[in-house]
Amino acid sequence: MNIDFNKATFKDFENIPGFDLADRAEVFYDFLKFMRDNGHMNYRLRTESACAPQMDVILTGETKSRNYISYVSNDYLGFTQHPKVKAAAIAGIEKFGTGAGASPLIGGHFEYHELLEQKIAGFFGKPADWSTIYTTGYTANSSTLMSLLQKEDLAIVDMAVHTSVHEGCILTNKKTFPHNNLESLEHILKLAQGQYRTKLVIVDGVYSQDGDVAPLKEIYLLAKKYGAYLMVDDAHGIGVVGATGRGVLEETGLLDKVDFITGTFSKTFGNIGGYVIANPKLTAFLKFQARQQIFSATSNASALGIVKAIELIDEEPIWMDRLRDNIHHFKNGLKGLGLDVGNTQSAIIPVKIGDPHLTGDIGRMLLEQGIYTNPILYPAVPKKDARIRMSLSASHTREQLDKTIDAFAYISKELNLVQV
Ligand code: PMP
Repeated sequence: MNIDFNKATFKDFENIPGFDLADRAEVFYDFLKFMRDNGHMNYRLRTESACAPQMDVILTGETKSRNYISYVSNDYLGFTQHPKVKAAAIAGIEKFGTGAGASPLIGGHFEYHELLEQKIAGFFGKPADWSTIYTTGYTANSSTLMSLLQKEDLAIVDMAVHTSVHEGCILTNKKTFPHNNLESLEHILKLAQGQYRTKLVIVDGVYSQDGDVAPLKEIYLLAKKYGAYLMVDDAHGIGVVGATGRGVLEETGLLDKVDFITGTFSKTFGNIGGYVIANPKLTAFLKFQARQQIFSATSNASALGIVKAIELIDEEPIWMDRLRDNIHHFKNGLKGLGLDVGNTQSAIIPVKIGDPHLTGDIGRMLLEQGIYTNPILYPAVPKKDARIRMSLSASHTREQLDKTIDAFAYISKELNLVQV
C-alpha cells in the first residue's frame, strides 16, 4: 500500500490494511522524517521557557532555542503565570507534597480536592455535591461517559465534539450529526424514540477547532422534546464567553437547565484536571463508578492554584476584558487581510487554508517570521479543512498581535492566499 506523504496526516497511519504494528511504525517513521525534511514538523517542539505569549522554542533539527510570539497555549486569561495562582499552588505543594498517592476511592482524596469540588460547583452556582473532579478534562468526558452509557443506550453527538467524547462512547451506541445541524439532530432523536434505554445528546459550548458556538437553546429544546439528557462540554467557553465568564451556558441562560456540564482546568484555570457538574445523585454515581475515580490517582496540591484561578475570574475581571479586546483586534486585523477566520466567537482563531501541505508550509513560514502557531490537519478537522489555529490570551500585547497580523499579510501576499 502506497501512502502519498504529500497528502498524508497522522491519521493515515493509524491502521493500514495488512500492516502489523512494526510495519506501521516503520512507514510512519519514514513519514516523520519526510515531515522533518520539509520543515513541517512543528509538533512536539521543546519549549524552554514558561507557557506565555512569547516562548523559547527549539525547532526540529536545531540545537538552540529561539524566541517566538506564541499562540499555542489555551491559557486564555494568562493564569498559568498569575502570581497569586502560582503562590497558591506552591503553598499547596509545601503543605501536602507533590503527589496524592492513590485514586480518590482508596486514599487519594484530600481536603484540597474537596475545596476544588466546592469551588467549581460554586462557580456554576451549585453546592459542593454537584461536582466531580478528574485528573484531566479528557477523562472528565471519556470516563464519565463510559460509566453512564452502556450497550442499551445511545449517545447523539455533534461531529465536531472533542475526541474524549468519542472515546467515552465506545461502550455504547453512537450517532453523529453534522456540526450544529439541528434538523439532523432532530431526525436522529425522532428515529431513536422507543429504541434505547437512555439517550444523551453531547455537544460542546465553544468548539475547539473553529471557535464557534453551539445553538444551545435549540439543542436543549430538542433534547427535552424527545426525552434525551443533555451534556455540554464548555472547555473553551469558560473564562471567555458569558457576562461573568460562565461560558456559552451563561450566554444562553441555560446554566440551570442542562444535565451535565463538563470542562477542564487546563485552559482558563491554568493547571490540569477536569470536572463534571451534575445533580447530587448523578455525581455520587460518577464518584463511585467512573473508572478514573477508582483506578487512577488524583491531582497533587498544586490544584490549590485552580481554586485561586476560579476566584480570580470574579475578583479580577480585567483579564476577561483584556482577552475580549485582543480577540476583537486580532480577528478584525486578519479579516481585514481577507483571510477566512470562519465563524469564531471565542479566543480560538482559525485561519482556514484547506490544503494540508500548504498549511504546513504556512506554519513553517510563520515560524520563520517568529510566530509559533498550530497547523491543524485531519483528523482534528475534516480533510479539506486544514487550518492554522491560534489561541489568544489576555496577556498577548497589542504589539505582538500586530506583528502577527503583519506576518500573515506578508505570507498571504507571497502565497497569493486571497484571490480577489
Ligand atoms: N474538551 C475539549 C473541547 C477540549 O478541547 C479538550 C482539550 N483540548 C478537552 C476536552 C480535554 O481537556 P484536557 O486537556 O484537560 O484533557
